[in-house]
Amino acid sequence: MSTQSTPTNVVIVLGTRPEIIKFAPVIRECIDREVPFTLVHTGQHYSPDLDEVFFDQLELPAPDVHLGVGSDSHGKQTAAMLEGVEEVLFDVEPDVVLVQGDTNSTLAGALAAAKLNIEVGHIEAGLRSFDREMPEETNRVVVDHIADYLFTPTSETREYLEREGLSDRIFVTGNTVVDAAHQYADVAAEKSTVLDELGLEPGEFYLLTAHRAENVDQLDRFSSLLDGVAQFADETGWDVVYPIHPRAQNRIDAFDLEVPDAIRLVEPLDFLDFLRLESTAALAFTDSGGVQEETCILGTPCVTLRYTTERPETVYVGANCLAGLDPVDIVDAGRQMLGKRPDWDVPFGDGRAAERILDLLTAPTSPTAGTIPAETPQ
Ligand code: UDP
Repeated sequence: MSTQSTPTNVVIVLGTRPEIIKFAPVIRECIDREVPFTLVHTGQHYSPDLDEVFFDQLELPAPDVHLGVGSDSHGKQTAAMLEGVEEVLFDVEPDVVLVQGDTNSTLAGALAAAKLNIEVGHIEAGLRSFDREMPEETNRVVVDHIADYLFTPTSETREYLEREGLSDRIFVTGNTVVDAAHQYADVAAEKSTVLDELGLEPGEFYLLTAHRAENVDQLDRFSSLLDGVAQFADETGWDVVYPIHPRAQNRIDAFDLEVPDAIRLVEPLDFLDFLRLESTAALAFTDSGGVQEETCILGTPCVTLRYTTERPETVYVGANCLAGLDPVDIVDAGRQMLGKRPDWDVPFGDGRAAERILDLLTAPTSPTAGTIPAETPQ
């Protein structure tokens, strides 16, 4: 870690829906404090449903640079982003590059900066599923090891980073997803009309999201997941609402997969509508990282359709249950979680993560690891 002080010129690299949502509080904080920043969008997510709608609704400035990379194999996509981000860094010469999460955009942003000896701040550092078959896990590990500031959400993630020898750069800040959920859940309750539009009663429907490659790219796994959720839903007769990610829709079309009647496919939702469904569903079934966190924050029990999670805190506090993909296990997990009282402590912080990150980045002298209390902020 360098001893350079007070980064005043920031480049923010993002490219996907969850990065836009989790960066929103940080961008807002930069604007409020008049910290100069350049926003670079890689174009990893490009359909308006997963991209523009979030810039509009979260009232974010349009990206200063759009690389327009789009979908491709991991290597080609990451290489194109790396080249594009490097050009921007030559031009802007920032003090620090901020990346968030575990996508190829995160990897490319961090790697381009590290190679030019520009400091890297990784927001949501330290998450580990310990499953190297997930491409996201490779990205997390590599980015944490080349970053200078590890803005980690919890004491659990801090421990993972310490075990990997990174103690000199850890700052436990909480997760900016709490900031975003706090900032928008009340607005969603007031403004969203999604329940009426979909004819749903609060507490009498289930929410489903599934789009991870390891779940939807193989027919047997995808069918097993859908069958399990549908069998559980049939026990109560309540509908399952599935805002379908373009990747999953492509797979359904390619496999000619028949989706069970209990599952209603709807277009991907904007953030306010999705938060409203997350807050009012009886139960959420998901393979998404962000949805595991948000349901925990919003008090909705969650069943995770995976065998591992990089958010084990949600399981430890009783908000989430790891079911895997076998229909019998999904039904069991649904029974176990349905009606569970949401009396758990939220392990991801107090909604001031972005504030802490900006305090650190704009400190008059280079921050020392541990200047934020090592305990998870509640
Ligand atoms: N989300 C949304 N609309 C949807 C589905 C998800 O706004 O139809 C939001 C959700 O609130 C969360 C984020 O998208 O903040 C999760 O994104 P995703 O599941 O794509 O990514 P992951 O969290 O798994 O990386």
